[in-house]
Amino acid sequence: MATSAVCSTTVLAQGVPVDTTTTTTTTAVPQVPTTVVKQKPKVLKGKDVKVVYKVTTTDPVVFITIDDGSTVTPSLARYLDRNKIPVTTFAVSVMLWKHREWFRDRKRMTFENHTWNHAHMTLVSAAQRKHEVCGASQVARNVAKESPMYFRPPGGSFNSKVIDTVAQCGMKYLVMWNVEADGGVVRMAGRGKLGPGDIILMHFLPSLERSLVHLMEQIKRNGLKPALLRDYLT
Ligand SMILES: [Zn+2]
Repeated sequence: MATSAVCSTTVLAQGVPVDTTTTTTTTAVPQVPTTVVKQKPKVLKGKDVKVVYKVTTTDPVVFITIDDGSTVTPSLARYLDRNKIPVTTFAVSVMLWKHREWFRDRKRMTFENHTWNHAHMTLVSAAQRKHEVCGASQVARNVAKESPMYFRPPGGSFNSKVIDTVAQCGMKYLVMWNVEADGGVVRMAGRGKLGPGDIILMHFLPSLERSLVHLMEQIKRNGLKPALLRDYLT
């Protein structure tokens, strides 16, 4: 900047530089807000939480969700990685933390909220409820470096107080399921085959790998493929 330009500039108290060499009174002064508005994180209410049993989509996809997290093995890791299977995991905090190295190594897995330690959510106190849900989100952030987007209540038990807590802890979806696939058996409640948007419940049991092999055969036979919930529920 030339010396004359520096001399002809006055800095006003609010920090907006004004050119004082002009003789007109209509000098354009940059419009800046006088106060800085900080954006607050959105506070969710119970009414903002959607309960989902199945995703509405015409894409040929289903969603594999696996709960609890007690049994993980190198063999299961190899199977999931080799077949590039996307999995939405609802591990309880104690298991997510215990097996955090195994979980962190899975590249096609997201980590959602299934409580701290599998409490029966409609029977616990308000303080315990909040610890089970918000505390579990904190553990998931520590392990996966991002917040869970979904809550799944242990045993599928929830009421309006549970939904309010899910909102307070920053999640918009309570995710249930409409298909179960443990023990090598796919249960679809009166239907003969899997369809687009099905949410499949499984558990980290010793039989999980065998169950996944069987499920994947059925998914392919029905012209579908597994996808991540986070690509559909946002
Ligand atoms: Zn569970």
